[in-house]
Amino acid sequence: MKLMTKPKPKKSAVRSKPSAPKEKAIKRVYFFGAGKAEGGVHLKDLLGGKGANLADMTLAKLPVPPGFTITTQTCKDYNDLGQKLPRGLMDEVRSNLAKVEKASGKKFGDVRNPLLVAVRSGAKISMPGMMDTVLNIGLNDHVVLAMAQLTNNERFAYDSYRRLINMFGDTVMGVDHEHFEHELTEAKHLRGAKLDTDLDTDGLKDVVARYKKIYEQHVGSPFPENPMLQLEHAIEAVFKSWMGDRAIHYRQINDIRGLAGTAVNVQTMVFGNMGDDCATGVAFTRNPSTGENKFFGEFLVNAQGEDVVAGIRTPLDCATEMGNWSKKGWQELLKVKDLLEERYKDVQDFEFTIEKGTLYMLQTRTGKRNTVAAVKIAVDMVKERLIDEKTAVLRIDPAGLDQLLHPMFDPNAQRIVIAKGLPASPGASVGKPAFTAHEAHERAQNGEKVLLIRKETSPEDVQGMHSAVGILTSTGGMTSHAAVVARGWGKCCIVGAGALQIDEKQKTLTMNGKSYGPHDTLSIDGSTGEVMEGSVPMVAPGVSGPFAIIMKWADKLRTLKVRTNADTPADAARAREFGAQGIGLCRTEHMFFDAERIHNMREMILATDTEGRKKALAKLLPYQREDFIGIFKAMHGLPVTIRLLDPPLHEFLPHTEKEQAELAHSLGLSLDQVRQRVAQLHEANPMLGHRGDRLAVTYPEILEMQVRAIIEAACECKKLKIAVLPEIMIPLAGTKAELDYLKKYTDQTAQAVFKEQGVKVPYLYGTMIEVPRAAVAADELAQTAEFFSFGTNDLTQMTFGYSRDDVNSFLPDYLKKEILRYDPFQTIDVDGVGQLVRMAVQKGRAARDNIKCGICGEHGGDPKSVHFCHEVGLDYVSCSPFRVPIARLAAAHAAISDGNGKKKAKK
Ligand code: ADP
Ligand code: MG
Ligand code: MG
Repeated sequence: MKLMTKPKPKKSAVRSKPSAPKEKAIKRVYFFGAGKAEGGVHLKDLLGGKGANLADMTLAKLPVPPGFTITTQTCKDYNDLGQKLPRGLMDEVRSNLAKVEKASGKKFGDVRNPLLVAVRSGAKISMPGMMDTVLNIGLNDHVVLAMAQLTNNERFAYDSYRRLINMFGDTVMGVDHEHFEHELTEAKHLRGAKLDTDLDTDGLKDVVARYKKIYEQHVGSPFPENPMLQLEHAIEAVFKSWMGDRAIHYRQINDIRGLAGTAVNVQTMVFGNMGDDCATGVAFTRNPSTGENKFFGEFLVNAQGEDVVAGIRTPLDCATEMGNWSKKGWQELLKVKDLLEERYKDVQDFEFTIEKGTLYMLQTRTGKRNTVAAVKIAVDMVKERLIDEKTAVLRIDPAGLDQLLHPMFDPNAQRIVIAKGLPASPGASVGKPAFTAHEAHERAQNGEKVLLIRKETSPEDVQGMHSAVGILTSTGGMTSHAAVVARGWGKCCIVGAGALQIDEKQKTLTMNGKSYGPHDTLSIDGSTGEVMEGSVPMVAPGVSGPFAIIMKWADKLRTLKVRTNADTPADAARAREFGAQGIGLCRTEHMFFDAERIHNMREMILATDTEGRKKALAKLLPYQREDFIGIFKAMHGLPVTIRLLDPPLHEFLPHTEKEQAELAHSLGLSLDQVRQRVAQLHEANPMLGHRGDRLAVTYPEILEMQVRAIIEAACECKKLKIAVLPEIMIPLAGTKAELDYLKKYTDQTAQAVFKEQGVKVPYLYGTMIEVPRAAVAADELAQTAEFFSFGTNDLTQMTFGYSRDDVNSFLPDYLKKEILRYDPFQTIDVDGVGQLVRMAVQKGRAARDNIKCGICGEHGGDPKSVHFCHEVGLDYVSCSPFRVPIARLAAAHAAISDGNGKKKAKK
């Protein structure tokens, strides 16, 4: 229903009742308080995550200060209306404020028992890029006196007041926070105060006066004394912030789309800054960095709002210190922790305030965690019977597994540790210091690996944080901005390395008298918090512990097989450790680039007749055979798809005159002869030229040598009692005739080898599908091919007509202008290239019902593409060794999402 722009003329007394259904059509405000709530967890779209959970916690009888939530739709309407508050909104706000007054027993703007409120943003998805909370709304020169008297704490009243002017000025009216900071420093300096808490009441009164001046100077009008006006402006500012640069940028980086806007939560203030029996804090029900089932939280005594997160004072650890400070508070907190996990069945990240010994809950949400923690938590929660295996598998983001598959520092390597901080987000990073977010971004754009080194970070640093390989700060705790954001991305991060002296202007980092600048290399270990000099060597990771358990569960659920792209026995062995069920693509050309072999290859290319070529190929044969024996041994019984020579011959020839002269000399040819051949092989468009199976059609002897090497290797393995399943794959074919022509040579060669060796091995003959014609005529090709492997890199290139090698000149524009949603070379283009794949699978199976279909392009390791492969019914995906676990997990997700997997019995 649309908002009515004009009130309907009243037709009759009955219809004109204020409760007439039309009037209530758009409900914009949802109340929560005193154990009742109009919202709930099912309304996250409308109330945002924070609002929905505040309602739900209220229903769960947790101690939530009463308040109300204005819907995300209102934010959308506000922005659609050209940034104007929808009609009637403030009336609804006023009537809900009355309910809050009733629930709290206080009155907004009252000078005897005043109600103060917090105005908090909160979209459906939490966005640490936004920090737009305004606390203490409702204070003015009169109310502050009442607060002082009521609490018998003048200092507290003025502390709250100066915070309001600062937050209101900065967040709502856009006055640069620096101006307030400057005044505060000045006031502190004047009184010899070190910390904010060292300022006495007079000091704070001075700060209030200074802030007001600053406010008026920059806004052009005095700080508003009218509480209702403060509230209205603050609500509006939250809506406006949704379209601010910072928020837009955060949504872009994190690919958050399709949200209406942010909700606004207006909530009764509770005070963590009323004295030493008050505190405010942030906690996780489990450790979000390691996953350990241990309470993980920090608190600050006599503090309010963002003090904990902003890293102004270093907070205390709840687990070790809160019991000493307040036994009751700590026990209540532990009870709340259990209640939260029981209710939400997941790790919660929550915010609380303790006002004069009483605990209040201000927020809860699903705790962001890195993959190490996510995996451990999921496995533990299954053991604790909080969730089932399927839920556990779904909790792990396949793309996030990347973090577990990244190299880590070699545990045996020597470390020169120069500093230690808090291990905020695990991982290993090596890079050079950058001292501002801007610098980090610029240098990263130029291909440098940089570590962003800051005292603390704030939302405007997000881009530079994203560009850096690791983040290091000298202040802040485990829940500081840097820590939270880095963990969300799974980026290595150390915070609170207090001994480091960072000089942003001089671009130096000093530790024990030794300085490091932008050109020095440092290593940081996010699991130990150690900062090290130089570049510490790394080692490849393995699959063990909870990671292995999750993978086992994933394997039970998936139907799609996962193979690997591997060209060497070492890669093959590694992929097997990662769970590969075969090789989907073994490229043979890389094997020819070895110094000795390339010489024989060149000799073959320069030969002028078949005999000469055969002679040179005979020298290559033993090398190829050894390669295949190694790979067959590593794969031991699993299928291995070997692609015959694919690149244009030109790529194997030398291009400098010096090298050409050397080659000519060693082959007893003239330089001119070599030059001539190079020129002859030159093509205007080599990627669409004489390559792939076209080479074999012209020179069948190349194919014969390769097939011989494969079959001889297979026979030898068979004699060694090693099972082998070679699949001979023809690249780039587009017609059945090509396949028929080459099959004749393939079979003849294989039969000859069987006869010579006195043993036989089974083998398959199949083709890649990478030119559109092959996909369109797949039924025809399937009469000869026993398997299809979709080479979606080339297929994407040829379907779009985008040159893979030149695409970077225009693709970034296409992405920025959203002409393309994804890079089609990374994520398969379901609607175009995907249609060809779908068609080819259907046609192929119609012609040969047991035809094996797989994919071997880069897409095989991309989670979204894996979903597609599952959906079109491929038998397997093949990807690089390190992506094998990612594909296994993505395949399990795909199977679960189509109704529990194991849907079809695959052949
Ligand atoms: P964010 O989304 O950035 O976490 P919040 O709205 O949760 O923003 O507010 C930030 C901080 O403000 C909270 O951690 C809390 O300490 C403080 N705060 C929010 N609401 C209240 C309230 N009703 N009373 C006291 N403090 C509050
Ligand atoms: Mg919060
Ligand atoms: Mg190809």
